[in-house]
Amino acid sequence: MIVKTNAVALQIRGWSKTSHMVTWLTEDYGKITTVVKGACRPKSAYLGQYDLFYTCELLFYRRGRDGTHMIRECTPLQHREPLRFNWRGVCAAGYLAHLTARAATGHEAKVLYADLNHALDTLCDCDAGSIEALIFWFEMRLLRHNGISPDFRTCPQCHPIGTQWLRFSIDSGRFACAHFDERGAAVPSVTLHRDVIKCLRRFAECHHFRARHYTPFMTPKNKNDKKMNLVLGLSRFLGIFIIFHLDLPAAVRRVAFETLNTNPTSMCVTGE
Ligand SMILES: [Zn+2]
Repeated sequence: MIVKTNAVALQIRGWSKTSHMVTWLTEDYGKITTVVKGACRPKSAYLGQYDLFYTCELLFYRRGRDGTHMIRECTPLQHREPLRFNWRGVCAAGYLAHLTARAATGHEAKVLYADLNHALDTLCDCDAGSIEALIFWFEMRLLRHNGISPDFRTCPQCHPIGTQWLRFSIDSGRFACAHFDERGAAVPSVTLHRDVIKCLRRFAECHHFRARHYTPFMTPKNKNDKKMNLVLGLSRFLGIFIIFHLDLPAAVRRVAFETLNTNPTSMCVTGE
């Protein structure tokens, strides 16, 4: 059966001397893999029609729900040209594509597709200081679409309003609370500041990323310190939560963030 849908190219691998295997997140069929025969031939009809992070209109022969499909036509709708000149943007896009390829289950196709397009569009025109926050936003949205959002409801007895730091149990996905879990204080947990929790909640709820969703938590007095603590808190929590619940290799996320935080002037250029 030939079907038509829009899709974002997540991964491209060599399949034979002249063919590609492309993994897509489609709008209507979730994650799929297609073979593009003759993709690397000099006169291929597919030359320039797709690349990483492009959004394309796809026409493909659909063979059941799983397995690989044969592509029939591919037309680019969004090239995202600015990413070619922005290494931080490409690094973030690569991580988001990897995360999506690993975690997309198919049930959440339309919303995840919309969020990924929005994230990639935003990366084309995003200042370096907002890229990490954009990743956090996407991670929270992905968790939500997978039905494994952290549950940030508090218990009036264990988490009184004045307490700024709360213990969160990674394995049960909610705050450590003796009234919910008999193990109470004994469960392995991380401590979260209320500002981090507010930020994570906003990210999960917002259809569109806005850098201002996390800037209100920075006070003018010690703006840099507070921002740094907030970013570290968000990154640490999401890293632990995602690796635990989505079973992702820890190295992928760590390398993405280490690369994003590289200061170009500190890089050593060899061979000159
Ligand atoms: Zn309680």
